[in-house]
Amino acid sequence: MSHTEYAGFLPLAHLPVLLATLMEQGYSCLGPVVENGAIVMRELAACDAVPRGMQASQAPGRYQLGRDPHNRYFAWANGPQAIKPLAFAPQETLWNVQRDEHGKLAFEAVMPDPPRQAIIGVRACDLAALALQDAHFLRDGRRDAHYAQRRDRQFLVAVQCAEPAATCFCASTGDGPTPTAGYDLALAELPEGFVVQAGTAKGAAVLSALQLVPATPYQIEAANQQGQAAAASQTRALPGRNLREVLMRQLEHPRWDEVAARCLACGNCTAVCPTCFCHAEADVPALDGQSSQHERVWDSCFGEAHGHLHGFNVRPDIRSRYRQWLTHKLATWHDQFGRSGCVGCGRCIAWCPVGIDLTEEVAALTAGSTP
Ligand code: SF4
Ligand code: SF4
Repeated sequence: MSHTEYAGFLPLAHLPVLLATLMEQGYSCLGPVVENGAIVMRELAACDAVPRGMQASQAPGRYQLGRDPHNRYFAWANGPQAIKPLAFAPQETLWNVQRDEHGKLAFEAVMPDPPRQAIIGVRACDLAALALQDAHFLRDGRRDAHYAQRRDRQFLVAVQCAEPAATCFCASTGDGPTPTAGYDLALAELPEGFVVQAGTAKGAAVLSALQLVPATPYQIEAANQQGQAAAASQTRALPGRNLREVLMRQLEHPRWDEVAARCLACGNCTAVCPTCFCHAEADVPALDGQSSQHERVWDSCFGEAHGHLHGFNVRPDIRSRYRQWLTHKLATWHDQFGRSGCVGCGRCIAWCPVGIDLTEEVAALTAGSTP
């Protein structure tokens, strides 16, 4: 791991002790489970319920579960679900409004009441994505109470990616594969156990309760080397971390037409992307006209309705919607947040039904240009 603060060592067989400790401290534990053929985060029934030996091979438009020959706990790279839905709910009611007998409207906020959740197996790219979601939903003067309520109750147990998927390119965005910030605890899985480090006071309290022996210099070095090897194994990359200027010079590039001919505008890429935060809000009135609920649902810049503005559509075709998505994510995001909106998780590549590969599109759009 890349930092030098105290590191403990948790033998492989003692992983349930970590979960039991978290449960004792009042957290429900979410971890990887197989659902509909993919690895997603769900509540674990017991502290020994983290499955071993799962792996998934990924390619453009392809995700296939398999077995890890080394029977590791965390040999799988990210599935379709990021941490995003656990903080920014895909659909929720923000407030209710009720009309009384005098016709007066009474508004009442509807707040979520999630349990304290420890999420086991968070990857570095998703920590970086969560920092971007925080920058949007928790910004000064615009703190989103619903998002904040969920985030405040999360305890993040990050895991170093030892074996990135073929679709991963977090090394080129600077966001992985070793977690460096944003976690409460971070684990690096070695054949005999885990190197464990705390990133927050909450994490340090759990680490102290575990009473681990210190990790040896050899174990810490093995974890470091594992992270470096995982970064070196990534075959996809973006050509630079700031593509703002080069992409904004290519707004009329013929590649936009070419990709638009393949893109279905299904919005899968925005649904799985851990940094996308676009949403729509709507009132859902009761049939008697006396009350309504104000709801927020995830939306996508690939949807036709998302571009409607006062009687006309600013993005009437797929070309303009794909261009909007890519140039927001990789170019104008720098104006909003001081960095790119892509953390290199590769989900938009694996979960695109027609296998559109963001890294390939960027390479075509920027060929011969200096980033
Ligand atoms: S744009 Fe694609 S690779 Fe980048 S963060 Fe979003 S889903 Fe991951
Ligand atoms: S790029 Fe792929 S996932 Fe995204 S909208 Fe187009 S077809 Fe759907």
